[in-house]
Amino acid sequence: MTSKIVDFSSDTPIDVDLSVEWMDGSGPSEPLVQVHALDEHTYVLRQSLKTHYEGPFIFLLLGNTGALMIDSGATETWPLRETVDGIIADWLVTHPNPTYSLTVAHSHSHGDHTAGDVQFADRPNTSIVPANLEGVQGFFGFTNWPNETVNFDLGGRVVSVIAGPGHEEAATVFYDPWTGILFTGDTVYPGRLYVPDMPAYIATLERVIAFMAAVPVSYLMGCHIEMSSTPGEDHPLGSLSHPGEAPMPMLPGQLFMLHERAVAIAGTPGVHTYDDVIIYNGKAVVDGYLGR
Ligand SMILES: [Zn+2]
Repeated sequence: MTSKIVDFSSDTPIDVDLSVEWMDGSGPSEPLVQVHALDEHTYVLRQSLKTHYEGPFIFLLLGNTGALMIDSGATETWPLRETVDGIIADWLVTHPNPTYSLTVAHSHSHGDHTAGDVQFADRPNTSIVPANLEGVQGFFGFTNWPNETVNFDLGGRVVSVIAGPGHEEAATVFYDPWTGILFTGDTVYPGRLYVPDMPAYIATLERVIAFMAAVPVSYLMGCHIEMSSTPGEDHPLGSLSHPGEAPMPMLPGQLFMLHERAVAIAGTPGVHTYDDVIIYNGKAVVDGYLGR
């Protein structure tokens, strides 16, 4: 059997399948994890809000020689490893590769994005990117952080890794040319944007905007949903169900708007509420809200 090589370089970005209703913690028999294929090479997983109020999203991108997983969830024990192993095993049936690798990377180092790493410690052909600034820089080969974007090749599918500090110092934004998606972590998502370091955050938004000038961007996908379907209203911190969530994907235009707002409020620490996001500006504001 010869391995079927996927051409990830032409006719991109593809149209992704967004016809999914995310489980929101309110169903009585909701599974612990929901899997949705954006296409046959790209998966979004959601960890049930019933297992942790962060209800994070995890992304799995498959290339010809290896897969990239962005984040590992909010708890150590949810069924992530078996789900990811299943997706990869299915894919390898039609694209056999005995040395196929998995890289476990992170949008940033916070515990609700890294807790599941432990499940992958003994997985063959697997690298776990250390979730700290030195680890991220070293693994991806950053030499001029944060004013730099580097490439990470999954075998014909070359993902860009953009330095993204502001929410957290080791944060990154991933761009996938196959789908045109920017994976924005907790830097941009429909929810409470905690920004302890606003100058770094604005610089990150500007870095992403400059990057977007050169490539087609279809959607922004972040790691949580906290906004409700009512503009300006969020589901309270700690909620184990989110009936009526805002849509998860955001559009490129929302990033430009977010940048304008961030610049406008940069000198005003506090909570700034907009229709699609709520910005917590300043370390004391963030720490106070999160009880740290
Ligand atoms: Zn988070």
